[in-house]
Amino acid sequence: MEDLSEAQQAELRADLLSLREELQRGLSLSSQGAQPVDLDEPIGRLSRMDAMQQQSMLKANRSAAQLRLQQVEGAVMRQREGEYGECQNCGENIGFPRLKARPEAPFCLACQGLREKRG
Ligand SMILES: [Zn+2]
Repeated sequence: MEDLSEAQQAELRADLLSLREELQRGLSLSSQGAQPVDLDEPIGRLSRMDAMQQQSMLKANRSAAQLRLQQVEGAVMRQREGEYGECQNCGENIGFPRLKARPEAPFCLACQGLREKRG
């Protein structure tokens, strides 16, 4: 893979920063909804189950967003250190197309695939 050009670096940096903002906004919006369901509240049994189901979905979304935010922060840091775009496992260039799709990606496609297979 080619090294990233300066224009590509700048484009991905802008992507990272707006992604970070978006994730932070989503997390602060959902922080209220993530409060435990109040089981004493006089709502029907079905709607209580609905509420609990909704809440566990919300929790899963939140932890996915938190994880992604961590990766975004890591990528912003690597950019500052001039290491951005290198696979954190094998050191190869991750490549612009992949970074454009996932600017926070810490690994190249091959290493990501290996990690997912390993679980
Ligand atoms: Zn790699």
